[in-house]
Formats: sequence, structure tokens, C-alpha cells
Amino acid sequence: MLRLVLLSLFFISSVWGAPGNAKIPVLCYHRFGPEVSDSMTIKTVAFAEQLAWLKSNGYTVIPLDTAMRYLKGEVKTLPAKPVVITVDDGHKSVYSDMAPLVKKYKIPVTLFVYPSAISNAAYAMSWEQLRELESTKFFRVESHTYWHPNFNHEKKKLSPTEYDKFVDKQLGGAKKKLEERMGHEVKYLAWVFGIYDDELERKASQAGYAAALTIDRAHTAAGKKMTSQPRYMIVSKHDIRAFERMVNGTEDRMPASKKEVIRY
Ligand SMILES: [Zn+2]
Repeated sequence: MLRLVLLSLFFISSVWGAPGNAKIPVLCYHRFGPEVSDSMTIKTVAFAEQLAWLKSNGYTVIPLDTAMRYLKGEVKTLPAKPVVITVDDGHKSVYSDMAPLVKKYKIPVTLFVYPSAISNAAYAMSWEQLRELESTKFFRVESHTYWHPNFNHEKKKLSPTEYDKFVDKQLGGAKKKLEERMGHEVKYLAWVFGIYDDELERKASQAGYAAALTIDRAHTAAGKKMTSQPRYMIVSKHDIRAFERMVNGTEDRMPASKKEVIRY
């Protein structure tokens, strides 16, 4: 009987597997351009330099979905030196400046967008542009809430019941809207302004997100909660040496007191 139990346990674990123990750097970009107009914009040539550096140093850019499923034990193996690229906010420079480089290097990129801006705000891409990017197979659209609110401010302003409804709309409502518009399941969420807490994380799971990403500047790892997996936000001041420290884990291994904190 015991052997049977052990055998079935072995069978179950070999089917589902244990979560992978590799740590993966997930990068977070915002805007690209010929000049640095604000701290969130990085020069397109700097991004090109980073992609060339990754390639010549043996890194492989993998889809966010592969990385998250690996952390859950659903994907067994990864290429050596995996790295994930994400972009928040749906800025039109993704279409004009970033996409040509993505197509040149043939790398997967996840776009976290908020539906209220798309085909609406002057700085944002249109639904047609997002669909065109997805048709290249290099891009995938995921959720960045409905209209990019500051949850800390809203929590102070609203009653508990109102706040509850507000969070549902921002998390579940955005997921539904993006699924309608893009015609595929939306599995992942990027926390706005990097703000999250236990309550928000619980609500993200309830809304059906498989994982949510922060900007806490560390590698993702199976030991961390799936609703607060970290990313490295890259801004204009980061040179190629700083970039190298992010992807090779040097920054992750720094004591917390020495770590950079970037807020926006
Ligand atoms: Zn954002």
C-alpha cells in the first residue's frame, strides 16, 4: 500500500513537477525615443545597445508566460541565461521606435496596457496598432488596470465598499475589456506605480490573473508570491553597466540598503 502511495506521489510530481529554481530577470520599460524627454524615456539607441549586449553575452529573451509557468512548475526547462522584456503603459513609441528592433532581434515582448488610454490618449497606441503588433507574434498584450489609478489615493478617498468595487473594476474590468478587444485570454497584471498589498494581491487572484508583476528590483523566483513577482524598471540614467548588473543578478544580490529605489 505504501509503495502504491509513493508510486502515485512520484507520478503526480513528475506530471506537475516542482517549481523551477532558476531566478529570472524581468525588465520593465516605458518609452523610447531619439532624445530623452523625461526620466521614463530611454534612447532608442540605448535599447538597441542593450539588445546587442544580451545577444553577444548569450542571453535568451523568453516570453513572460514561459517564465511565470516555469515558476509554477508547468514549464520544466529554460534556455541558459533567460531574460524577460515587458513595457508598461502602451506608449506610441513602442510602435514607432521599439517594434523595429523587436522584429530585428525576433524577441518576445509583453505589453502591459490600460484600456482607458488606448485609441484615446494622445500618447498611447490604438487598438489597431496593438493588434498589428500581436500579429507579428513577437508582442503580447496584458493588463495594467483599467485607467492607471493610484490605489493608495483611492483607498483614502473611497468608503470600503466603494473601494472594493473600484478595485474590481480596475482588475477584473480591465481583464475583461482587454480580452474582448484583443480576442485572447489576459493572464498577467502589472501593478500601477508599483503599488500593491495583500488585499490587492488577493483581488488579483480572484479576478483570474495567473501572476502580477511589481517594480521591486529583483529577479523573479519560485519562492516569491506569484501576485508580486519583481521587475527591474529601466530609466534613462541606466547605462550599459547598470543594465549588466540588473540582468546578471549583481543588483539582486546587493543588500537591501544599497539597492536602488525608483519611483514614478
Ligand atoms: Zn504604468
